[in-house]
Amino acid sequence: MINLVLFGPPGSGKGTQAAKLVEKYNLLHISTGDLFRYEMGNNTPLGQEAKSYIEKGELVPDEVTIGMLRNKVDANPDVEGYIFDGFPRTVPQAEALDRLLETKEQTVSKLVMLDVQDDELVSRLLNRGKTSGRADDNDESIIRNRIEVYKSETSPVFDFYNTQGKAAKIDGIGSIEEIFGRICAEIDHL
Ligand code: UDP
Ligand code: MG
Repeated sequence: MINLVLFGPPGSGKGTQAAKLVEKYNLLHISTGDLFRYEMGNNTPLGQEAKSYIEKGELVPDEVTIGMLRNKVDANPDVEGYIFDGFPRTVPQAEALDRLLETKEQTVSKLVMLDVQDDELVSRLLNRGKTSGRADDNDESIIRNRIEVYKSETSPVFDFYNTQGKAAKIDGIGSIEEIFGRICAEIDHL
């Protein structure tokens, strides 16, 4: 199995690349952001709780996110591996993911980080906001807060996997195909 963490700031291209990786490697794509948006769309209690954080660009609390992630993994046991997109976003989430995979005699195979500078992220997200219907993509101050939260709370996750020799940082600027090639080069020798 390949268990890939696709990592990087908001707007770095994780969702776009995950869709291509799913086709090539036959993995299950789990985007916790997409799962939250599904819950919000159905106005479930989980969605209502998540909304209060997402609309400010803050993180949904770890225990809520981890529980939702665990349900999704447990509901899909017979897969060739997972692509985790937008998760883990904190070191405690990374520790919880390791414990969850351990119960299945699995581990994270690799973390690939898409490296993109802030101004490019802001312009990509504002552009996406024109069509995504996402309130958190339409307000520059919310976008900037998401980037700050990434730096303070999420970026330590890179070091968490880097000390295990599992992290790779790639240039996230280029064509979709170029970046896809860079990611595949990290996965193909696993
Ligand atoms: N979010 C979160 N935990 C997650 C995934 C998403 O708290 O595991 C929240 C957070 O508020 C984030 C928003 O949902 O800003 C959108 O996340 P998503 O991953 O969809 O955005 P992206 O980073 O891909 O633009
Ligand atoms: Mg995304």
